[in-house]
Amino acid sequence: MRQIYLDNNATTRVRPEVLEAILPFYKEQFGNPSSVHWAGRAVTGAIEKAREQVAALINCSPAEIVFTSCGSEGDNMALKGTMEALQNKGDHIITTTVEHPAVLETCGYLEKAGYAVTYLPVDADGMLNLADLEAAITDRTVLISVMWANNETGNLYPIAEIGKIARKHGIRFHSDAVQAVGKVPVDVQTANVDLLVISGHKLGAPKGVGAIYIRRGTKLTPFMHGGHQERHRRAGTHNVAGIVGLGLACELAGKEIDLVWGRVKELRDRLEQGIFDNVSEIKLNGHPTERLPNTLNVSFAYIEGEGILLNLDMLGIAASSGSACTSGSLEPSHVLGAMCVEVSLAHSSTRFSLGTDTTPEDIDYVIEKLPPVIQRLRDMSPLYNCGHTDRCETCSVLTK
Ligand SMILES: *Cc1c(COP(=O)(O)O)cnc(C)c1O
Repeated sequence: MRQIYLDNNATTRVRPEVLEAILPFYKEQFGNPSSVHWAGRAVTGAIEKAREQVAALINCSPAEIVFTSCGSEGDNMALKGTMEALQNKGDHIITTTVEHPAVLETCGYLEKAGYAVTYLPVDADGMLNLADLEAAITDRTVLISVMWANNETGNLYPIAEIGKIARKHGIRFHSDAVQAVGKVPVDVQTANVDLLVISGHKLGAPKGVGAIYIRRGTKLTPFMHGGHQERHRRAGTHNVAGIVGLGLACELAGKEIDLVWGRVKELRDRLEQGIFDNVSEIKLNGHPTERLPNTLNVSFAYIEGEGILLNLDMLGIAASSGSACTSGSLEPSHVLGAMCVEVSLAHSSTRFSLGTDTTPEDIDYVIEKLPPVIQRLRDMSPLYNCGHTDRCETCSVLTK
């Protein structure tokens, strides 16, 4: 069966160049980078090269990069490490209602531990009002955490403007840039961020590796205690192969951001157009233009996202409803909830996230197969068949 993978915001395939580059680190170059002998030395150089590659992509110094095990670890480290390090300065965090669970759940944990958190609302397009941000700042605020790009809608947030506000008030600024790095230009200098989180498996490196940028002079209480790795900032023997892979994936991404993602955006736009031309009563979730080039999130009135996914899966098309972490539960997405998308429409949301390997044939196949799937599901849906001509009181969906 044909296999079309349109779930790259959940995870990506390891790029072939990356796979080839990391295999020696499971074979001949197996040393522990903390060892002083030949086996260790051979590996230390590779890690430092990867550090330079990651730093180059986001425009910082290699010494400001700390390798982690994943994006979630980076977010935990940024939030908990900041609040602990700055506990004499304040106890208030400002974040948004649309962050990834790695940030939201960590904030929930910190609230239980006695810290105060403000969750900024978003509008119907999922965007922030920066006046709300300014208004939320108090003299106890020590951290602002806003994601660079949203994993569900692809929305891009005005990070540079938020960075300016944070800088003006002397507040530390963290951005979860897991979805942005490698897809859009990310520059920690122009954006004024102090902490920025990257995950390998979202940009063609293996799962189980990530990095956090920590601006020079930014005090962070370590999250993992043990050995002296990463200059005491993160203990634990390095995931050498993963780190090498992350470095190369960053270098490759830096070379192709305009070229490849321009092409991906054209394909995404083609998919969007194709779906909107062929299916009625649908809604785009997210900002029409301020969005990642690869993400398309659409709600199909009257039917369930899970049904759409299962039917697409039978045709070999892999997509997602909401985020991978929440699909499988009947909870509608917290992101669409924050955008006040009607519950029934939130339940019917489907996310297509393209990758650098997506082809025009893949997209045309989806445009051909999706409309009959939607029609078949709607034909079986009591909501669709209730005969309403105006806004129906009973099923409260859309006008038909
Ligand atoms: C995937 C993702 C994470 C978590 O990264 P892991 O490496 O899977 O832990 C965090 N934030 C965003 C926006 C993500 O998309």
